[in-house]
Amino acid sequence: MAILLDGKKLSASLREELKARVEALKARGITPGLGVIRVGDDAASEVYVRNKARMCERLGMHSVVLHLPEDTTQEQLLARIDEMNRDPALHGILVQLPLPPHIQEDAVTARIDPKKDVDGFCSESLGALLKGEPGFVPCTPKGILRLMESAGISLRGKHAVVVGRSMIVGKPVSLLLLSQDATVTVCHSRTQNLRDITRQADVLVAAVGKPQLITGDFVKEGAVVVDVGINRTPDGLLGDVLFDEVQAKASAITPVPGGVGPMTIIMLMENTIEAAERAAQI
Ligand code: NAD
Repeated sequence: MAILLDGKKLSASLREELKARVEALKARGITPGLGVIRVGDDAASEVYVRNKARMCERLGMHSVVLHLPEDTTQEQLLARIDEMNRDPALHGILVQLPLPPHIQEDAVTARIDPKKDVDGFCSESLGALLKGEPGFVPCTPKGILRLMESAGISLRGKHAVVVGRSMIVGKPVSLLLLSQDATVTVCHSRTQNLRDITRQADVLVAAVGKPQLITGDFVKEGAVVVDVGINRTPDGLLGDVLFDEVQAKASAITPVPGGVGPMTIIMLMENTIEAAERAAQI
């Protein structure tokens, strides 16, 4: 039976550490602040943004949520980002994805001041990650690594297979795994014989967005399995991994919900606090 990589529990303990860092900043007259912009009425985005604002409140941080209508132009959105870039009360800025199709995501992420890029999606942050230099690491990949580290899982020399090559999860998590001396294979929608590859994984990260794609026969006995997927289906919220089947073979596994999700949000808070500390030169 696999051990559970419990993101809810770990994020609760990290919350206490972060609260102390917020208090230390406040003692110096600085309240870490996060600006969040949401465009349109995507239902999942509404929940994510609400949860981020709530977490800021719980940690004693400042947050501003800007909800813009679906027909907001790219120029209007960029102008609002510029305002947040100039606002000294905001140390981090995040534009909730996905954006309406008439807005180019790249133009938007590129507009955020790299010093406030707490999502880690701008070219400067991703370049730093690639080169192993200090910078903001995207929250979901950072949370995945933290979860494994807290369970004492060593990655050195392990074969890590990542399914998914998005800029948000697949690519950055592959770089992080590589930085920890794993041997990394990245699979994607054009990969042939996916199951033959995932079955070789000591560590398997599923970031696909296909409910329960990874069944027991995709997994090697004793593998560590990280399920990033969040799929809203008529049967409820499902991961990319068929949990019951896979947990019988895995040595460790993340649940959905309660695995990677809570880690993502707490890493966003950590990045924002880090941004405030850097601004204060702590
Ligand atoms: P995406 O759609 O941008 O990327 C999906 C990737 O999966 C692509 O690279 C694609 O090539 C690959 N893929 C698609 N079908 C495949 C198949 N049949 N076999 C192999 N590879 C295939 O998605 P994303 O933004 O990376 O998100 C992936 C999932 O993770 C989604 O369910 C998303 O909701 C979830 N997610 C969760 C969190 C969290 O905090 N838990 C954060 C971000 C994303």
